[in-house]
Amino acid sequence: MKHTLEETLLSAIRTIPDYPKPGIQFRDITTLLGNARAFRRAVDELVHPWAGSKIDKIAGIEARGFILGGAIAHQLSAGFIPIRKKGKLPHETVRVAYSLEYGLDEMEMHKDAVSAGEKVILVDDLIATGGTAEGAVKLISQMGGEIVAACFVIDLPDLGGRAKLEALGVDVRTLIA
Ligand code: AMP
Repeated sequence: MKHTLEETLLSAIRTIPDYPKPGIQFRDITTLLGNARAFRRAVDELVHPWAGSKIDKIAGIEARGFILGGAIAHQLSAGFIPIRKKGKLPHETVRVAYSLEYGLDEMEMHKDAVSAGEKVILVDDLIATGGTAEGAVKLISQMGGEIVAACFVIDLPDLGGRAKLEALGVDVRTLIA
């Protein structure tokens, strides 16, 4: 039987209640990553709008954005930029503070990871309040990168992240809500 994209992805994602804090429904994509068909469909679908376009870099947000972003970068023949929690990158960085659904943190990107005018797609597994993605957009924009789009497998629409990014003029693509 043929399953729709939504059915394939929803059935491949595991929900862990009260993780990492009470009240959070954690959407665990490790089960999707471990499912060859679901992983391929998710990556293919995220890549699809830009097949044949010139994209210079994919920026992935630590840690799950690295896995999806690496696969997407390979498909689009683009470079990959890791956006990491503070203190993890060895060379000169730009840093930004950001808030997320369950806390506050800082993230960094290497200063030389993106050059002015490069076309960049931002990738993460999930958008909730949009604080993380907004921080990443700031880092890329600060170095002169042009954000072509921000892509996520999962949108939690009630938390308003998509609207927050769209208000910044970012084209947001998500596969399931
Ligand atoms: P936010 O900054 O609020 O949009 O949160 C997005 C970031 O936090 C992403 O890197 C997600 O991986 C992670 N995250 C936030 N909420 C959840 C959730 N309910 N389930 C899984 N990951 C989440």
